[in-house]
Amino acid sequence: CGVFGLYAPEEEVAKLAYFGLYALQHRGQESAGIATFDKDTIYCHKDMGLVSQVFKETSLNELPGYLAVGHTRYSTTGSSHKVNAQPAVINTRLGHLALAHNGNLVNTIDLRQELERHGCDFITTTDSEMIAVAIAQQVDEGKDWLDAAIGAFKKCSGAYSLVIGTPQGMMGVRDPNGVRPLVIGTLNENPMRYVLASETCGLDIIGAEYLRDVEPGEMVWITEEGLSSVHWAEKPARKLCIFEMIYFARPDSIMHDETLYTYRVRLGHQLARESYVEADLVMGVPDSGVPAAIGYSQVSGIAYGEGLIKNRYVGRTFIQPTQHMRESGIKMKLNPLKDVLQGKRIIIVDDSIVRGTTSRKIVKALRDAGAKEVHMKISSPPVTHPCFYGIDTDSQEQLIAATKSTEEIAKQIGVDTLNYLSWEGMLKATGEDPQSFCSACFTGDYPIAIPEKIKRSKLI
Ligand code: 5GP
Ligand code: SF4
Ligand code: MG
Repeated sequence: CGVFGLYAPEEEVAKLAYFGLYALQHRGQESAGIATFDKDTIYCHKDMGLVSQVFKETSLNELPGYLAVGHTRYSTTGSSHKVNAQPAVINTRLGHLALAHNGNLVNTIDLRQELERHGCDFITTTDSEMIAVAIAQQVDEGKDWLDAAIGAFKKCSGAYSLVIGTPQGMMGVRDPNGVRPLVIGTLNENPMRYVLASETCGLDIIGAEYLRDVEPGEMVWITEEGLSSVHWAEKPARKLCIFEMIYFARPDSIMHDETLYTYRVRLGHQLARESYVEADLVMGVPDSGVPAAIGYSQVSGIAYGEGLIKNRYVGRTFIQPTQHMRESGIKMKLNPLKDVLQGKRIIIVDDSIVRGTTSRKIVKALRDAGAKEVHMKISSPPVTHPCFYGIDTDSQEQLIAATKSTEEIAKQIGVDTLNYLSWEGMLKATGEDPQSFCSACFTGDYPIAIPEKIKRSKLI
């Protein structure tokens, strides 16, 4: 999911939040929403669909205020229904709160039982509403916003980057492991006007300046008096999701002081060093495989070119296609360039293989267009384990590399050769301590313990 927050009296906050969400659209295409606060009144508009489908000029004009919280959703818990759209809004003793969540809690079964014992009701099936309810419960017991929120976070286990609006101010929070990203920006060089966004591309679009990341286990509290910070977690650690780096976040977003484009090009360098093969042309699967393909070409000396053209207007299935339509989906999206591919030995680079279904269709399309040899290079290791922290990689049995060797996968997707980047190579290219990332979907080494009941739902 994508989260966004803005504290800026005098600005049209809803419109700025709309642009911010537009830049974060890649993080979730299922639903979108914005809540604004104007004194003690809350306004909220949310619905299924893309940001551009959910909001019109008129709906934005009906969202006045000085503070906005926005969300783009990609469902990992709770079904794909309008009630599950965010921000989650609930009423408390101190007024409404609006909460936008990116990530996934893992202790939802216990947390829900505990909250129900306290007499809390739930409208939806999402873990995000559970966080909002947990905060409201503590507010209603008499705590102020900050103590209530910290009390609630201490009960939550899992991944959560949050933007929370209240009548008094706005919070930005990362879980103690900092699995999902969250950045702080300032608007108009004004030290009292703050922006929160999942990625720096959400700041760029409204001309905000990147200030810093919210730290793991930190809460920032933004009010008319400016920004204050609380490090509330007992044992904070750095476990940023490596998948954000290799695939999920936008290539123009900055993490660890450089754009992810630059990191992904370096993954391609490492991939070429680890697995060279002779060929005529290196190409990437648009768009996510392109930076690593450029890197592969730079180090291997094999020419880079385009062999597949992507139709950028085919969205991720707002109107759900039938299975038959889904099967022809790849042709809707990617069209091969016959004269470029004809008779050539092709190296095709992609960021990851999850189920292998996309890859198989792409390889077939390249062969149908006349490619003589197809060698696939993947700029990450085999995905062998499901994610419990907010990236929807399905259950383990659907992951092709969980049950098949690289040779078997090569055969199934129809390539001449297949190579993955090593785990060491992927982490070395970050230039950071390998321990400062979550890479559990490649290793099964989950940094936040997964309760047995939840484990059983996704692991073989
Ligand atoms: P597959 O061959 O596993 O069907 O598809 C791999 C492709 O799907 C890659 O190009 C990757 O960029 C893309 N992709 C789409 N959604 C996801 C996702 O949720 N996780 C990952 N890892 N890759 C995804
Ligand atoms: Fe990211 Fe994989 Fe860890 Fe999930 S398991 S948080 S996708 S690195
Ligand atoms: Mg891709």
